[in-house]
Amino acid sequence: MDVTGGGIYLCGITPYDATHLGHAATYLSFDLISRYLMASGSEIRRTQNVTDIDDPLLERANRDGVPWKELAEGQIQLYRDDMTALRVIPPDNFLSVFENMKLIISYIEKLVSTGKTYVIEGDIYLDLSLIEGALENLPIPLSEAIQIFKERGGDPERVGKRHPLDTLVWMKQRVDEPGWESSFGKGRPGWHIECVALALSSLDNGSKFALGIQGGGSDLKFPHHYMTAVQAQVITRRPFSSVYVHTGMIGLNGEKMSKSRGNLIFVSRLLNDGIDPDVIRIALIQRHYSEDTIWTDATLQSAQIFQGRLRNNLAREEVAATDPIIANVVLALANNLDTPQVFALLESWCEKTERGEIGGNAGELSRALDLLLGLAF
Ligand code: ZN
Repeated sequence: MDVTGGGIYLCGITPYDATHLGHAATYLSFDLISRYLMASGSEIRRTQNVTDIDDPLLERANRDGVPWKELAEGQIQLYRDDMTALRVIPPDNFLSVFENMKLIISYIEKLVSTGKTYVIEGDIYLDLSLIEGALENLPIPLSEAIQIFKERGGDPERVGKRHPLDTLVWMKQRVDEPGWESSFGKGRPGWHIECVALALSSLDNGSKFALGIQGGGSDLKFPHHYMTAVQAQVITRRPFSSVYVHTGMIGLNGEKMSKSRGNLIFVSRLLNDGIDPDVIRIALIQRHYSEDTIWTDATLQSAQIFQGRLRNNLAREEVAATDPIIANVVLALANNLDTPQVFALLESWCEKTERGEIGGNAGELSRALDLLLGLAF
């Protein structure tokens, strides 16, 4: 993976349902990227945001009758605990919208100063028709784009909009909702501009692309990452991210895991049930990050069996050659994070060791697995 330019930006959680397995799979994939880059001597910087002011968070707080700030803080702590248990290396910058409101407002001002925005009843929208390519280069057909935009927080039918896909960059304060002072009155930012501001301010180093990688779940491809890139480009006049990494969705017993179906599995629940965090880690990283997968009880069981087998073999006095497998694991990771290949290599090393092959150094392989895969043996 050739990552140059201004660092890695990972779109983080909205803290009201932390941390289900879909989230965990995304953060683990980026943990593997970070580990690989660090092991290769790269000093690339990593930023992750937390969307601690957002419609779904405010709706949940309202529904449950708890202050939104309290809900967010509790969920952020839960998320941090889960990531610590899963041995995810923290990002260099963990940036909250709440704590960076002034900064985000200054980026909205930059956007407004380009003359490409308009106002509807105090709310500010970006006019996509004034941005070259924005409506012409949609990644999906327009009708589908409008449908997905609607499903993922957009408001295509709002009266007064110049184009259904125009994105909200500032929302005037609503009754019973938090609001911040700005030169446009009291309100709060739209979702996409938050990531634009946090990414550009912490990572852009003036390279050809503002970012090396922007990442997140595949459900962020459109509209979030598309609109983030459009807005950032209006501000910087340069392309936003050189690479996009989108992680597949995790389904449960044949169904998509989603809030509306109420079938989310939380990392904290598995940990409370006594599941070894390394087993959860293996279960989530053994698939290729970009593929959608179905989670079943067998997923954890097979991860458990694999962990036991590898542990037994690493504990032997004599083991099969380890230099080639370490080199091949590194090559597999370099090949678009081919973790299925990594696990196939480890299985094959176990087989050779069990057959009685010798000549390896188990300690060296353990250290490599710790460094590259975050697995402790
Ligand atoms: Zn984002």
